[in-house]
Amino acid sequence: MRYQGIPVQKGVVIGFVSKNAATLERHNGSDRVDVDEERMRFFDALLEYESRMKKIAHNAPGKDASDIVRAQIMIARDAVFSDEVIAGIESGMKAEKAIDTACQKYSEKLRESGDSIFAERSSDLLEVKNGIISAMEGSGDEDSYAQDPAFTGNILVSDALSVAQIIGLKNTPIKAVVLTTGTASSHAAVILRSMGIVSVLGAELDISSLEDGCEAIVDGETGQFIAAPTGVEKDWYKRKLKEFEVEKTLARIPDGKSLPSETKDGERIEVLCNLGTDDLPDHVRLSDGAGLVRTEILFAQKNGFPSEEIQAAIYARIADSFPEKNAVIRVLDIGGDKTYGMYGDELPRALRNKESEDNPALGIRGIRVLLGDEKLFRCQLTAILRASYGRKISILLPMITSVGEGKAVKELIASCMEELDKRKISYDKNIRIGCMIETPAAVMCAEMIAKEVNFFSIGTNDLSQYIMCADRGNSAVSGLCSIYQNPVLRAVRMVCESAAKYGVPVTICGEAAAQTDVLPFFIGVGVRSFSVAPSCVYDVKKAVSGLTLSSCKQLCSVILDESDDEKIREILK
Ligand code: PEP
Ligand code: MG
Repeated sequence: MRYQGIPVQKGVVIGFVSKNAATLERHNGSDRVDVDEERMRFFDALLEYESRMKKIAHNAPGKDASDIVRAQIMIARDAVFSDEVIAGIESGMKAEKAIDTACQKYSEKLRESGDSIFAERSSDLLEVKNGIISAMEGSGDEDSYAQDPAFTGNILVSDALSVAQIIGLKNTPIKAVVLTTGTASSHAAVILRSMGIVSVLGAELDISSLEDGCEAIVDGETGQFIAAPTGVEKDWYKRKLKEFEVEKTLARIPDGKSLPSETKDGERIEVLCNLGTDDLPDHVRLSDGAGLVRTEILFAQKNGFPSEEIQAAIYARIADSFPEKNAVIRVLDIGGDKTYGMYGDELPRALRNKESEDNPALGIRGIRVLLGDEKLFRCQLTAILRASYGRKISILLPMITSVGEGKAVKELIASCMEELDKRKISYDKNIRIGCMIETPAAVMCAEMIAKEVNFFSIGTNDLSQYIMCADRGNSAVSGLCSIYQNPVLRAVRMVCESAAKYGVPVTICGEAAAQTDVLPFFIGVGVRSFSVAPSCVYDVKKAVSGLTLSSCKQLCSVILDESDDEKIREILK
């Protein structure tokens, strides 16, 4: 059930309702009484009230809140107010009744004035009245909320809350407040905002119809309160919650810095991002660099192959979004099951007028396409080299199946460098070259490849497909084409072992890198770098901070001995 209110403090809380049974109205006795005794009770209560309120003012979150509390103290101290109460007592009223009557009289006058500021003072009077009466009864000081064991949930739903009650929420489990009264500028709103409590005021809702402890969602941005949300509503808000978390984190990170990520026992884990565009979202700032720039997707958006100059400008722009960090540009990975229609006439020679292949995934793709079209490949390599001058840029080679392919590319890069020298164009002479490990052949000869390149990037998407002989695009075999398959996990371990022998760093850049349940396995076999979609960087870094190296290593040995993928899934969950 959805209820609309006034949005007061931004944020989303998904939790359980705690109804505030106490209302601000109290019962006031009207028995005839001893005038001297009632007078004494009133003055004692005034002193107690003032001392409580001073304590509250001291704990108030910010100047606005303490000003509101001090204004209430001033009202209670007002001689005209005291005289009015004493007159009531002398006319035969109990102190509670006399206070109530005096407050009501002033409150009505203020409300009748029609001025919004006076109307606000009238709610102050109501709070002063309840505060003095609480002090008289020895109940309801500001700590009472903190000690209240009656909170069943973390969303407090009430008709109204006094300033003192709101400040008292500081040490409670309450994360959101929904009130049926109040406005965006009421005292309650000012204080809730300064305390950062997600809140919705003036909600059109009958609290008696609400079950205490029921599940609920508060959206402080739109002013929505949802009681007993559906699964779809919960999922939607969980996503929104994550966005808020990321936004808040981003705001805390100084420009040029990334979110730190290390395990509980201090092992540094790099989390990079995968990109297919040069129009980068703000949250790429959370990452430690660009771990995989898929140029085939980049160019598909530009409707063809840009010239050397334009490509160089695009790569430079991407790298400049990660100052001081590395940007790994993967050369075109097209062909096979990755042919992009939008290239039209500009298709590389190896793909133009090509007979259709019976097994495209095993046909002309990736490095095979590039080595079959030197002009196209030289253009891209030269553009990357040009962008590398003064920047940290690396080259990544897709679909490698032999050491020979790696060597051929290195020769071509050396030749492109010579040409740039002739053209007097600068580039990074020590540019790093890496190899995608995504074919069984590359796994088997990883040690030999390691001698030729500077880094490995394991493409778990293709690696799963080729190790398991299960098409990554075919849902009928999706259970086989999966990181949870023991042979795929063993292949990852083999690559890490080969890389470790030659001190070659390994990044995981397939979709599995963002699967936080598989993270302990990867870390356990020695991976210290992950490249994931920008939207997953935050989650992966958060998951890393909850792990220890020793537990990751332990988990690995258990998993690698398990052949059933369902059991592997269960262990990792
Ligand atoms: C992979 O195969 O895991 C990978 C990262 O490359 P792509 O998905 O672009 O083939
Ligand atoms: Mg791949």
